Amino acid sequence: MSQTLQAVRGMNDILPDEAEIWEHFEDIVRDWLKSYGYRPIRMPIVEPTPLFKRAIGEVTDIVEKEMYSFEDALNGENLTLRPEGTASCVRAAIQHNLVTGQGPQRLYYHGPMFRHERPQKGRYRQFHQIGVEALGFAGPDIDAEHIMMCARLWDDLGLEDVSLELNSLGSAEERGQHRAALIAYLEQHQDKLDDDGKRRLYTNPLRILDTKNPELQAVVEAAPKLAEYLGDESRAHFAAVQVFLKDAGIPYRINHRLVRGLDYYNRTVFEWVTTRLGAQGTVCAGGRYDGLVSQLGGKPQPAAGFAMGVERLLALWRESGGEAERMVPDVYLVHLGDAAQRLAFRAAEALRGHGFAAVLHCGGGSFKSQMKKADGSGAPVAVVIGDDEAAVGEVGIKPLRGPGGQQRVSLELLPEAVGALLYADDEGDNGGV
Ligand code: ATP
Ligand code: MG
Repeated sequence: MSQTLQAVRGMNDILPDEAEIWEHFEDIVRDWLKSYGYRPIRMPIVEPTPLFKRAIGEVTDIVEKEMYSFEDALNGENLTLRPEGTASCVRAAIQHNLVTGQGPQRLYYHGPMFRHERPQKGRYRQFHQIGVEALGFAGPDIDAEHIMMCARLWDDLGLEDVSLELNSLGSAEERGQHRAALIAYLEQHQDKLDDDGKRRLYTNPLRILDTKNPELQAVVEAAPKLAEYLGDESRAHFAAVQVFLKDAGIPYRINHRLVRGLDYYNRTVFEWVTTRLGAQGTVCAGGRYDGLVSQLGGKPQPAAGFAMGVERLLALWRESGGEAERMVPDVYLVHLGDAAQRLAFRAAEALRGHGFAAVLHCGGGSFKSQMKKADGSGAPVAVVIGDDEAAVGEVGIKPLRGPGGQQRVSLELLPEAVGALLYADDEGDNGGV
């Protein structure tokens, strides 16, 4: 016997019980995005590797060690499974002149992302993000809008214990000045740096502030703060974001060490974190990235966005009582005999044509075993067709959840009769007993 095949490590099957929760979640998310005027965009899952190297930065965890890159066997092109969506979204906007042709864009996407990380709870190699990008907006208003939208979604989902961390990364020049001071400081503590820290000292010292190594905490805590290097414009932008947040009653904590794992950010950056998910507590992260469009060859455009980790949000949602809306058909059709089976097909299509969800029993079996399946499906009504019914072109209908026995109706009157039963059922529910 050949060995059974397994999914790739860190890449999960989402089975129906779970997938129904995902769909319910996605419905809520879609309504939420529309209520803020965001429009969908769908990009390819595979992109040319240089896109991510240019957008995310060579000296980042993602580009250094997490990308699934490969050579196209047919033409030798270097391709990568997308590790995030912002780069692709901006590439698409530039390629199709979205902002230059149609003005500022509020966009969203969702789908799988791929990073070669060590799989653990809340960290997978294929995971899912919902991403929001606002292209062509320069002001602090859109930064605040993004944060306020998140707060509303947590509220819509009934999530608890999600808190906001905020920082400003200033401009490239301001970061340059801070960088010099930071390198000078870290050089004095070189003996305490870990391998990542030593390697990044001159390439990406800001990322050292983001280290998760507990032994480095004291060193990075005392490092020069970027906030002290911000100029007037950056300060004013950051202050304005905070005014909007205060107006909206959204509490936040300024975290001077919040620098984000991708190179493209400037000014406002934020993360939503929870203490309920252990080490993988960041459920959403984002900020402003004014330089990215020109970095990718587009006419300079300011922009800001964020991405939510769907697996982590769902874990938190489940903790807070979120659950699937189970798919329950209106009708389950059972039948015995060839003529009855053919009539059952017609009856099922007639019901679907009238907007009812109908499951037609497939796979044979006795009436008794079929009725068990009908019960298990959760459908409130069964349609029962035997030889007798088939002979005269009629069907039996039987309430499965409420009172009342089986009645017989013609095929033509079936949808109406089912409607009457479902309606009666509603009345029973509402009226109370
Ligand atoms: P982390 O510090 O946890 O590695 P990150 O900074 O790499 O996160 P982003 O690139 O900002 O993450 O992605 C946005 C969100 O996507 C994260 O806040 C998280 O919720 C989710 N996410 C990122 N990587 C993974 C992963 N490997 N598995 C599951 N979710 C992830
Ligand atoms: Mg990461």
